Amino acid sequence: MTSKTSEKIVVIGSGPAGWSAAIYAARAGLKPLLFEGALSMENQEAGRLPMGQLTTTGYVENYPGFPRGNLRGYMQSAVSSDRLLVVPDEVFERDEIQPGVYGSALMELMRAQAEDFGTRVVSEDVVEVDFATRPFVLRDSNGDETVAETVVVATGASARWLGLPSEERFKNNGVSGCAVCDGALPRFQNRPIVVVGGGDSAVEEALYLTNFASKVMIVHRRDELRASKILAERALRDPQIEILWNRRVEEILGDDENGVTGVRLASASTPAEPTIEREASGVFVAIGRRPNVEFLNGALELDENGCIKRTVPFATNTSVPAVFVAGDVADSRYRQGIIAAGSGACAALDAERFLLEQASDYS
Ligand code: NAP
Repeated sequence: MTSKTSEKIVVIGSGPAGWSAAIYAARAGLKPLLFEGALSMENQEAGRLPMGQLTTTGYVENYPGFPRGNLRGYMQSAVSSDRLLVVPDEVFERDEIQPGVYGSALMELMRAQAEDFGTRVVSEDVVEVDFATRPFVLRDSNGDETVAETVVVATGASARWLGLPSEERFKNNGVSGCAVCDGALPRFQNRPIVVVGGGDSAVEEALYLTNFASKVMIVHRRDELRASKILAERALRDPQIEILWNRRVEEILGDDENGVTGVRLASASTPAEPTIEREASGVFVAIGRRPNVEFLNGALELDENGCIKRTVPFATNTSVPAVFVAGDVADSRYRQGIIAAGSGACAALDAERFLLEQASDYS
């Protein structure tokens, strides 16, 4: 069934950028409608489930405002009991020893805060946009249409894959893009695991997987890690982690019955060097992210990195007036939760200013 509503501001996306935009818009009296995305198998396979990338990470240690402390008490008083279920109970056991905030707990707190100020949340994807004339029309995965005077696009980014046929074949049978989601599965317990990549994500996933695996091998195509110093040093010091330098995954080995059983690795620098094989129960791919822009179908201009192009320095304007952008979908440089949250606030302020200017034009 198709329904029509007219909105002052619609936010698309439910990571830190989306919730922050919603909180600012709600407090400005704009009564935002936020599309948080659908909990579908298709989204799971594409690595773009609702609530953003922070839900696929473990503890976030660098988001300001969360020193070591009793998060359980705060979460229980701030978040409704049905939403609390998305945070594993063990997390709270670690409060006293673990500084920071668990990624999905942080996102639930942001969601609760946005709802508290009156944000209405739709658990669907926006699948099509018409930005040709204003007000804009958005169609969602339920077939409903929403009419919007301004839009904030905050759809984030999702995992990139190696592109090997064997990677595709063993997805959900040993190949994963998310250690926090899949690391505790029985198939990985006390068995060797491979992580591919050399950035913060790869190192963080490797450190997390040492909780389950007998050994974690990081396969990196260069001879030094790109990850931040503090994380890189933790990995280099960890006796359970081995780094296989200058290697690339040529093939993920396995069969239909057992899923992944190992990897064949080629030299990334010297093609003539013989390949090596390693036994592994799983391969976690952590080689970066790509912006989630497919649903726009070319409606907004992109930059050379495939991110939505910002058309005004230090502001969140896009190539279409009244469409603003926030977070990793427009950021190939910083890609941090705190930056995304900040840019969400900017986008809401820019949308509010746009609406005020429009109103004064007509007065
Ligand atoms: P990233 O920093 O872009 O690193 C991607 C890694 O994958 C690089 O080491 C890259 O190798 C490698 N790679 C790329 N394509 C590859 C391919 N086809 N085959 C093999 N290796 C490939 O991505 P990220 O680690 O996902 O991090 C993204 C952003 O999020 C960064 O800004 C990061 O700081 C941030 N982040 C922060 C935290 C934290 O602060 N706790 C945690 C996670 C992510 P090269 O090094 O050779 O390019």
